[in-house]
Amino acid sequence: MKQNETSLNFLPNGNGNGKATLTLNGKHKHSEDCEHHHEHGDLHIATSLETPMRPDAFAIDDDTKVKLISEHFREIMNILGLDLTDDSLNGTPHRVAKMYVKEIFSGLNPQNKPEAKMFDNKFGYGEMLIEKNVSFFSCCEHHFVPIFGHAHVAYMSSGKVIGLSKINRIVKYFARRPQVQERLTNQIGHELQRVLQTEDVAIIMDAAHMCVMSRGVEDTQSSTITSFFGGKFKQESTKKEFLSSLSLGK
Ligand SMILES: [Zn+2]
Repeated sequence: MKQNETSLNFLPNGNGNGKATLTLNGKHKHSEDCEHHHEHGDLHIATSLETPMRPDAFAIDDDTKVKLISEHFREIMNILGLDLTDDSLNGTPHRVAKMYVKEIFSGLNPQNKPEAKMFDNKFGYGEMLIEKNVSFFSCCEHHFVPIFGHAHVAYMSSGKVIGLSKINRIVKYFARRPQVQERLTNQIGHELQRVLQTEDVAIIMDAAHMCVMSRGVEDTQSSTITSFFGGKFKQESTKKEFLSSLSLGK
């Protein structure tokens, strides 16, 4: 499937100012239904759990990425007809690029994955632990506008526990990628199962999608709920206990 290869080339433009040109030769079919049909060919390791990324995703460093994205974003603004010499707009391309690489998409880089430090469950607490209302900000990978909301996370200790803030950090790490909410939920669930060494993990994510609210159908009231139930949480009674805890005090 040679024609499906994606390549990333840096071509110095030859005028000595170090400006690089980014050329993407992917044969990805851009269509409304691209969320259902991945056409990345051989390079796309097609599991629904993994964020689709190229093998050379980290062949260039963060600073170079900021520089390149900044140049391309400047071009987008130019095409839109904005006057980049205006004081208010001049710094925007660099700001956006820096925000993409260092903040809102920093979860693409495995180096930024939170370290999973485990503690012995000295208290012998064997009941369900629930962390409610973990707020998160993500980005819709189809429109590049925010998805934001709350995650409710529960687990049963396998004899090990993690610091509560670690749950927030894991949620935040996977949220800081271009995402679909279903994948985000599964990625957090699988990571918590791995870290906590137990199947007994459950997640409910309730989020608003700016692409639904501010464009298209312009529905500002709806929210999207996704769930992940592993191990004991597949049992009706355990699932119920978790879900009823979430409605308490609401
Ligand atoms: Zn969207």
